Amino acid sequence: MYSLLLLAVLSNPWPAQTTRAPGVADPIGSYSAGCLQGSVAMPAHSPDYQLLRPQNRRHYGHPNLIRYLQHLVSAARKAGLPPLLIGDMAMIKGGPFSSGHRSHQSGLDADLWFRFAQPRLSNKQLQQPQALDMVAANNRVVSKAFSRQQALLLQLAASAPEVDRIFVHPAIKQALCEQSRGDRQWLRKIRPWFGHRAHFHVRLRCPAGALACTPQKPIPWGDGCQEVASWFDGPTEVTSHPKPSPLPALPARCMQMLGH
Ligand SMILES: [Zn+2]
Repeated sequence: MYSLLLLAVLSNPWPAQTTRAPGVADPIGSYSAGCLQGSVAMPAHSPDYQLLRPQNRRHYGHPNLIRYLQHLVSAARKAGLPPLLIGDMAMIKGGPFSSGHRSHQSGLDADLWFRFAQPRLSNKQLQQPQALDMVAANNRVVSKAFSRQQALLLQLAASAPEVDRIFVHPAIKQALCEQSRGDRQWLRKIRPWFGHRAHFHVRLRCPAGALACTPQKPIPWGDGCQEVASWFDGPTEVTSHPKPSPLPALPARCMQMLGH
């Protein structure tokens, strides 16, 4: 069984792709079993952000994702936040990563760190960055780390209409539920999910007219603050590294993309 899994990882052709799939930008399949035609690279240099682990070449996305991130970094700057650290987006043709998370396949997902680029990181630090854990062992946020700046960044990130949902650790959702005053509409899109202790994961909706893009089920109404408590009842987080999962079955159009 283990060797089969290993084989599946070794035979993942997606990380080795070096050219974009030509044609209009088109996310194909689902977030966890898909690929991306017509990807765009996030510009590597900006005073407003830095790209983490550039050696992994995971900073491509649908143009909507690039535009969204550009808006977010400028809104963050205008709100007085320090420059952002942008983690994984998608690979040049999308598809499954060889390691790490399962989604990020169709160019509509991006990870943003709670830690800011202040001071700016050196190239070496960008290649092997130190994450800043926002959650303590008692499943509460670390108040020194998770400050108003992080809460503001999440509010800015969730407020754009093209955002489908944002994943954060349940302790972070709970802290936002306790702290947020006034408009709580944006809290609805903040969804609890284990992991996501040092970064949050933004997922955009399928773009209008993207017929090959598989949407996720809509999120329930309400701010989701009642249900977050249930995350602390059951088994808590798996701390060991998850086993690599076999490659998902991808749509035929994705497989055709690989030949070119
Ligand atoms: Zn992610």
